[in-house]
Amino acid sequence: MMPGWERWAVSELPLLVLAAIGAHLVSSAGQTLLHRWLGHRRWAGRFFRNHIDFHHAYYARGHLTSAVYRGEEGNNTPFFLIPVLLAGSGLFFLLPHEVFAAAALGGAASFAAHVYFDKVYHVSGTPLERFAWFRRKQQLHFVHHLHANTNFAVIDFFWDRLLGTYRAPDEATPERPPAPARRTGRAILVAALRR
Ligand SMILES: [Zn+2]
Ligand SMILES: [Zn+2]
Repeated sequence: MMPGWERWAVSELPLLVLAAIGAHLVSSAGQTLLHRWLGHRRWAGRFFRNHIDFHHAYYARGHLTSAVYRGEEGNNTPFFLIPVLLAGSGLFFLLPHEVFAAAALGGAASFAAHVYFDKVYHVSGTPLERFAWFRRKQQLHFVHHLHANTNFAVIDFFWDRLLGTYRAPDEATPERPPAPARRTGRAILVAALRR
């Protein structure tokens, strides 16, 4: 007979993983749509002014990064927590508790990741720059700052492909050089022997 935890891993775990992934997808789609329909629409009033007057004004062509992030002022993110918490409390009564907990964890991690990425894309010398996948996403976000009607996503740019707002980086998109490779023990030894 299967031990208890193995039975749990086969019968329950896939559902919990799916709930967490689903929560992330809802959060990344929500971010993309709200960015497009509130952040870049004049009728959205304060959301539009906050986003354009601060984030897009600080980071525009020629100055896409700074040593420290300059965007805490006029930050719309806390407002987005309101619909998230309302939807979350509704789901609490609808979903089995463990599925709700997995979705809540996935949603919270996704929210934190969106806030973090949106920040570090604009900070020079961030440790993530050593990863090609990060530099690619950073470039796609820079395209949004150069062509504001494209690339509204922050993490999952396939939403922009679905919405028809995707734009690939071109030669005009500034690429950050990869962070200098860390010197391995072997490289240090070779350098020492050459001396
Ligand atoms: Zn924007
Ligand atoms: Zn930005």
